[in-house]
Amino acid sequence: MIERSQFETAYLSRQERARRQLQQDGVDALLVTLGRELPWLIGYEAMPLERITCLYMDANGAVRLIIPKLEAPRVRPLPGLELVPWTDGEDPFVLLGSMISDAKVVAIDDRCMAGWLLPLMGHANEASFRSGTSLLNPLRRQKDALEIEMLELAASAADRVADRLIRGEIPVALRQERDVAREIGEALCEEGHAKVNFTIVGSGPNSASPHHDPTTRIITPGDALVLDFGGTYSVGEEPGYCSDMTRTFVVGEVPEGFDELYEVLLNAQTHARENIHVGMSGNDADQVARKLIVDAGFGEYFVHRLGHGIGLDEHEDPYLSSDNPALLEAGTTFSIEPGIYIPGRYGARIEDIVYLDEDGVRSLNQAERELIVL
Ligand code: ZN
Ligand code: ZN
Repeated sequence: MIERSQFETAYLSRQERARRQLQQDGVDALLVTLGRELPWLIGYEAMPLERITCLYMDANGAVRLIIPKLEAPRVRPLPGLELVPWTDGEDPFVLLGSMISDAKVVAIDDRCMAGWLLPLMGHANEASFRSGTSLLNPLRRQKDALEIEMLELAASAADRVADRLIRGEIPVALRQERDVAREIGEALCEEGHAKVNFTIVGSGPNSASPHHDPTTRIITPGDALVLDFGGTYSVGEEPGYCSDMTRTFVVGEVPEGFDELYEVLLNAQTHARENIHVGMSGNDADQVARKLIVDAGFGEYFVHRLGHGIGLDEHEDPYLSSDNPALLEAGTTFSIEPGIYIPGRYGARIEDIVYLDEDGVRSLNQAERELIVL
């Protein structure tokens, strides 16, 4: 069990890194509202209400949470964190405005609502605003030891759900996609997730739709079956980390031509895990898998990027994508998830969450990847 004190240490060291970044970039104040930077910095998740919750940080060491009074009891104490509750009838923007009235540069998270940003800008006198999300992204990409541990716990829990499917403990044949989806969701929670984020169950022709929403279609022998699922795994009251994995099965018998397709896909996924390295661009990493799929003649059927970063957010930096020239750094976590989708017939995807360091890629997911007949 990870102790609260380990989380506290992590929050304080992230705040220190953020402060150094503010100094370096000449930013006078950082404001965070609904962005995931908030739990990353102080371990608190704000409810997406019309009443504003906003973290104020500056380069001098102030860390204040401006929060509706009725939400304040949910905040656990953290050394150095000052609570500034506001009550209904008070104007929180006047309060926040007074904190940034002398600021020249204010950084604010990308998820701040326009209905909050506009009055804030009105109170900020001369300040120019920039993205606090892009300021903190380079720091958040670098996962600390605690985050790696949380992502490992999340991935192992998802693996145990995949194992249940492989062992037939969650039956799939002759059942509706949405019934299987519901049961996968229940299994995610039983294995330790605090909540289910999504369960994709795509059978037969539906497996060719990468983000298929489960329907009442009956899973039938001869179907390919793409199962992509994930949830949020948390310890105690700390913010949770995301799992996200995909396995593809066949039901009863292998449909015609599917063996060849799957072999190409598995080779590409394995090749990517073995060859993606630090210093490679997001684009080049995408190409590592894509090249094998294109060479095998399936290029037009691999219709999405190879992967996305993961952490407190399901999708975050870095992206393994043809439009990302940024170099992959050590200490990052992301998915490797090539897919091949033949419209109207079947599709397949294999997805693992991996950790990248100087030694290369280490998969946090371990569940079997060979094609299994359920
Ligand atoms: Zn996924
Ligand atoms: Zn994914």
